[in-house]
Amino acid sequence: MTGVQVELDLAKIGANARVLVDRLGVAGISVTGVTKAALGSPELAAVLVDAGVAALGDSRIENLERLRAAGIGAPTLLLRSPMLSQVDRVVRSADVSCNTEPAVIRALSAAAGAAGVQHGVVLMVELGDLREGIHPPDVCAIAASTLALPHLALTGIGTNLACRNGISPDDRNMQVLSALASSVEAMCGVTLDVVSGGNSANLAWFDTTSDTGRVNDLRLGESILLGLEPLRRRPIPGLHTDTVTISAEVIESKRKPSLPWGTSEQAAFGRAEPVLDRGDIWQTIVAIGHQDTDPNGLRPPPGATILGASSDHLVLETTCRVEPGGSMTFRPDYSALLRAMTSPFVTTVPAVERGHRRR
Ligand SMILES: *Cc1c(COP(=O)(O)O)cnc(C)c1O
Repeated sequence: MTGVQVELDLAKIGANARVLVDRLGVAGISVTGVTKAALGSPELAAVLVDAGVAALGDSRIENLERLRAAGIGAPTLLLRSPMLSQVDRVVRSADVSCNTEPAVIRALSAAAGAAGVQHGVVLMVELGDLREGIHPPDVCAIAASTLALPHLALTGIGTNLACRNGISPDDRNMQVLSALASSVEAMCGVTLDVVSGGNSANLAWFDTTSDTGRVNDLRLGESILLGLEPLRRRPIPGLHTDTVTISAEVIESKRKPSLPWGTSEQAAFGRAEPVLDRGDIWQTIVAIGHQDTDPNGLRPPPGATILGASSDHLVLETTCRVEPGGSMTFRPDYSALLRAMTSPFVTTVPAVERGHRRR
């Protein structure tokens, strides 16, 4: 065992993707498989493509470049609005990008021309979550100006909810998106290939709505990777939730008082929570901390309770002494997974089948 390891069970993740592709496919909705929580892992991407996703989405151009370099040929979508400084890289590694700013769209057109490619644009619409998006009354004008540019295709429109303010996708905001798609088509005399309704948070809406309108694509990350719907973090029926583990090594385990002693001021990450005196406890330290993951997003194994974390230490209460050198395995939430995948201290093991591992 080498330090901290995150292990993705790609067989279960692939099965999750297939279930969602089939469920949404019945309603004519395709899935864009989102790889950003796995740093654009080509192994994950290959599994998603096998499961039938229509495209791969990532928020970082570096991750899409990684997919392309690994020979993944599926259509790629850059989820985060391109940086003006990166348009040259965007048109080379993303087939389509999500956009809201006319100046960036113009620069994409010029970059696509210089690279000799055609680049697709999905215009993102603001529907209340107050992250990225064009104000709905301005969408038609920006669509028209996009269509007037050479080297670009207006691939479609989309929206993103439930990320900054937790605003849920519902029939009302999805109908606004559908109506906008139809207005853009009527005003500009085009057909939009893609009406991208949102992310994993749209699955609860999909399950309850009687009319999905013009929505024909969802961009799914967390639901595929962790089997959870993100609005309430509940398991999605039929999906695996035991898909990812994070393991780290025990470096100390001692009988210690449950209460600290001495004069109390701030700890490394602010003030420690006051605790009840429970007498002496088994305190076990695992070599994983804020530099490796989001300690608040780790679920410890049965019998262990997380007491606190610093940059490099996770302090747990355990029922007995745990020998140093042994490992302890945790289930991460989305935040802990994302941070672990992006930490240089963490090794990733994409397990294709249990017992059969490759790097
Ligand atoms: C991250 C992201 C997604 C995927 O979100 P999940 O909740 O993981 O499904 C979709 N769209 C955009 C724009 C994103 O940034």
